[in-house]
Amino acid sequence: MNASATQPVASAVVGCPFCDTLNRVSLGRLDNRPKCAECQKPLLLDRPVFAKDESLSRVISGATVPVLVDFYADWCGPCRMMAPVLDELATERAGELLVVKVNSDQNPVSPQHFGVRGIPTLIVFRDGQEVRRQVGFAPKAQLAALIDGSTR
Ligand SMILES: [Zn+2]
Repeated sequence: MNASATQPVASAVVGCPFCDTLNRVSLGRLDNRPKCAECQKPLLLDRPVFAKDESLSRVISGATVPVLVDFYADWCGPCRMMAPVLDELATERAGELLVVKVNSDQNPVSPQHFGVRGIPTLIVFRDGQEVRRQVGFAPKAQLAALIDGSTR
């Protein structure tokens, strides 16, 4: 562990699912039910959050915890198989991992930016930098190893 990389309070930047406002949320206080500063609706971080082309880079660079980004599409069978696995990971690791989903049909710029050639593509980011990626369906254990294997 590098002491200089230690963050006193884990936090993340997430877009409000209702009004798209980006909010910085303290991950150490999820029990306090964080709310959107703009519309006051709840921000739920025990499940995957959604990001758009306009917000993805700020979500990735704004988190002090690892970020797992899933580039998916609604018509993609393996993506649908991935969905419950990502839901479980987000719940089990709430507060220590941010699971972000990007609909690549509605957000074509981000997949291109990250060189995504097939979906699902899952990319692990730490401190805003890509550390690992997985293309195609992965069972939960494999995905967990992808995330934990990126520990430096
Ligand atoms: Zn809002």
